[in-house]
Amino acid sequence: MTKPMVRFENVAKRYGALTVLDNLNLEIARNEKVSIIGPSGSGKTTVLRMLMTLERINGGVIWVDAEPLTHMEKKGQLVPASDRHLRRVRGKIGMVFQHFNLFPHMTALQNCMEAPVSVLGLTKQEAEGRAVDLLNLVGLSDKKNHFPIQLSGGQKQRVAIARALAMRPKVMLFDEVTSALDPELVGEVLNVIRKLGAEHDLTMLMVTHQMGFAKEFSDRVCFFDGGKIVEQGPPEQLFGSPQNARTRQFLNAVL
Ligand code: ADP
Repeated sequence: MTKPMVRFENVAKRYGALTVLDNLNLEIARNEKVSIIGPSGSGKTTVLRMLMTLERINGGVIWVDAEPLTHMEKKGQLVPASDRHLRRVRGKIGMVFQHFNLFPHMTALQNCMEAPVSVLGLTKQEAEGRAVDLLNLVGLSDKKNHFPIQLSGGQKQRVAIARALAMRPKVMLFDEVTSALDPELVGEVLNVIRKLGAEHDLTMLMVTHQMGFAKEFSDRVCFFDGGKIVEQGPPEQLFGSPQNARTRQFLNAVL
């Protein structure tokens, strides 16, 4: 059996006395597309932030591409990861946020070139070639010299996707990437994600409120409530015949 691309093994996350995730176990296969849905405050974003190492975990181990992310193997034992180890393994993961987080003083092209040059050590020429290809992929070749302030929300989010891809991640995380957009701009961003999923070798994990998209795009949907996966399954099953009362209640409220 091939190893999963991402594995949460008994992962716990607390903020002070508040337990946000309790004993989370979740495996995501190579190339699998998984959506996380659930009420506000149920821990969805925390799952992505832990994987991106923006949050330290309080228990368990996270594995990426058959390597521990949060830990290192030393003499056959797992010990907490050094910052260097975290940075290296985290390099396999790209994340796109709800609020774009583009560098405002850089053009679309410069936004996509910055990390490949400063983190991966590409030459400017190499990074520019890569950035041009990716801006083309997200349909923005004509906007490469625009600054974020000159772009619509949908265009900014497509630059953010190109910027994450410029690091050649194996796993892409999408955190409510259409939530801050005007309704008429949602489609262009979802189209880019759809295209990436169909044409690229990428494992994708997304937190979304777009139930229609989650249904159409995902191989598996996980319903979170109170820091736990209450129910998961293929979208037709989870949306079509949810087994758990809390899943049914949530879906009735949002669909
Ligand atoms: P969701 O994405 O499902 O809305 P989150 O993962 O953002 O939920 O948050 C889960 C819980 O953790 C919430 O109760 C939230 O208030 C709490 N939380 C998130 N970040 C912090 C933080 N930095 N400090 C304290 N509590 C936090």
